[in-house]
Amino acid sequence: MTNDDFPTDRPAVVTCGLPYANGDLHIGHLRGYIGADAFARALETLGQQTVYVSGSDMHGTPVAVNAEEQGVDPAEFALEWHRQYEETFPKFNVEFDNYGHTHDETNTELTRDIVRTLDENGYVYEDEVVVAYDPTADDYLPDRYVEGTCPYCGAKARGDECDEGCQRHLEPGEIENPTSVRTGNPAEYRERTHKFFRVSEFADYLTEFLDDLEGTSNARNQPRQWIEEGLQDWCLTRDMDWGIDYPGEEDEEIVLYVWVDAPIEYISSTKQYSERVGAEEYDWEDVWRGDGEIVHVIGRDIIQHHTVFWPAMLEAAEYNAPRGVAATGFITINGKGLSTSRNRAIWAKEYLEEGFHPDLLRYYLTTTGGLQQDVDFSWDAFQEKVNGELVGTVGNFWYRSLLFAYRNYEGTPETDVSADVQERIEGAIGEVRESVNDYSLRGVGQAAVRLAQFGNEYIQRNEPWKLTDEDPEAAAQVIRDCVQIAKAVAVLLEPITPDKSQALWEQIGEDGEIADTHLEAALETPPQTFAEPGELFAKIEDDRVDELTEKLEERVEAATDDDADEDQAKTESDDTPSDESETMTDADTDDLEPLLEERIGFEEFQDLDIRVGRIETAEGIDGADDLARLEVDIGFETRQVVAGIKQLHDLEKLPGEKCILLANMEPAELFGVESNGMILAAGEQADLLTTHDDAAIGEKIR
Ligand SMILES: [Zn+2]
Repeated sequence: MTNDDFPTDRPAVVTCGLPYANGDLHIGHLRGYIGADAFARALETLGQQTVYVSGSDMHGTPVAVNAEEQGVDPAEFALEWHRQYEETFPKFNVEFDNYGHTHDETNTELTRDIVRTLDENGYVYEDEVVVAYDPTADDYLPDRYVEGTCPYCGAKARGDECDEGCQRHLEPGEIENPTSVRTGNPAEYRERTHKFFRVSEFADYLTEFLDDLEGTSNARNQPRQWIEEGLQDWCLTRDMDWGIDYPGEEDEEIVLYVWVDAPIEYISSTKQYSERVGAEEYDWEDVWRGDGEIVHVIGRDIIQHHTVFWPAMLEAAEYNAPRGVAATGFITINGKGLSTSRNRAIWAKEYLEEGFHPDLLRYYLTTTGGLQQDVDFSWDAFQEKVNGELVGTVGNFWYRSLLFAYRNYEGTPETDVSADVQERIEGAIGEVRESVNDYSLRGVGQAAVRLAQFGNEYIQRNEPWKLTDEDPEAAAQVIRDCVQIAKAVAVLLEPITPDKSQALWEQIGEDGEIADTHLEAALETPPQTFAEPGELFAKIEDDRVDELTEKLEERVEAATDDDADEDQAKTESDDTPSDESETMTDADTDDLEPLLEERIGFEEFQDLDIRVGRIETAEGIDGADDLARLEVDIGFETRQVVAGIKQLHDLEKLPGEKCILLANMEPAELFGVESNGMILAAGEQADLLTTHDDAAIGEKIR
């Protein structure tokens, strides 16, 4: 791989994170598949030879757990979902050049081959490890079969990942307070022999790899921190029978960890494509073993797998490294976290059933925020964006200019495009090229929409309808320019709205597929005659939005009620001490405030003088229901602060406790007591922040 600007003369492959074959798709999933599809299309319009591949992730405990619950064979269960995904993607114009699955022969063979190479090259060793075991079920509990507490951040963690907390990958045996998903009983830890990959030897390699890595900044910054904290070797095997057998150990009850064979599907799927079209046209080995351009589009919850384990594995097995990793943010719904258990989601099926064109969602999801930002979906915001930008700007310009051209000239007037307009289009092409190289789909969309905006202003300013009699030549010039702009907008927008762009392409009488053209087509002369155009976008009415919003709210409410009933039943049936920890950690992300999109610099953080303190005294303030007066030792001096914790804490027990104090907060007076700082706390119960090790009183938080 290189860091030369796209397009390069080497073949490229774009992938998106594999969907787990175990449930319905929603717009949180679609964001990644659509984003990767649009990026692959955008690379192609630049003239880069590109294929877009992925496949269903058939293995792993999420699939095994769900299949077991339904009493079906995991292979059958996963295949069923795989087929559904294959049918669903094209409905969103997500068109893979190859879509395989991790359980097929290509991937099984290639995975075993790569693992054999890792072993032969000396990167695999055996070690004893403690794994969770359920004595009642008499079975080991790999990954999702066990739940507990993350040892790094204390959040509720499921098996191999801290998906509600710090997002770290968790090795077997790391999870604290383990309970069995099978029986709900506490799990034991038992010693077993497993295979390990020497990731720790790749710290220097990965540091250099990250320095060159393109994509989004989150995909570089998070792993840098993990490397600094020290890399652990990675357990390659699991005690279960659903998965790919470790080569040479087919008789043992262990299989490869799902995260070994899942990313290898990127290669396998490319290989299948290559075998289908022939190596002359596209050679997978040029890409993966030579110097092709590899770009992964993933969700930000799987950054570690793609920027630590995966590149280390590729390097160890003598494969090419990815050039770019673009990690997308999450989707929130009406400002709250998407939650499938609460049914707070927009399902892929539902969107289509409502009759909306896929290109509208594609446009919304790719241009509402930058790739790595969280994007909030509400039907209101969807309507506003569609009506404002696609209907009001692009659709309006397309329709009015083509209709005028048809009525007065039966097509494109016979003259050259004016120099100004030519230049304006060239500028937009440049913006698109730059945006693709910045991994900014929003930039691509904005360049196209701004060009349409320019077109609207151009036609408005020149008023060709007044010129047809007075100055027919001038009128023809304006319309000639507008038809060119209309065509250019379609070409630039094609990666995001492929269907609508194709429709415009046909309206102006062009043959073939707009998807097969490059950006330069934006400047090529359109055909001279075309038929009467129709409108390509329709306004979304307010009533419709009200109805959809209400539907969503009712659904979330109903699901929340069900949830409450279930929780209630649970508490009644097993009234054990473990309940407390369950309620405490069971917070679904949907109740959390969305993350702020705006980032701050390190200097701004440095402006906050946050110190480790020790509470000396704590007493309630007379007349105030909630407020307490605290004296906090921060090393240099003792500060008096007022905190809203009177009802939430046993004040007598606080003296002696360490706390965290924002020391340069402006003083304030509350109930006649001066507050000279702010104690940091989180949650409804004002859980006080503290440190857990040797930080001295007065130490600055940095
Ligand atoms: Zn964590």
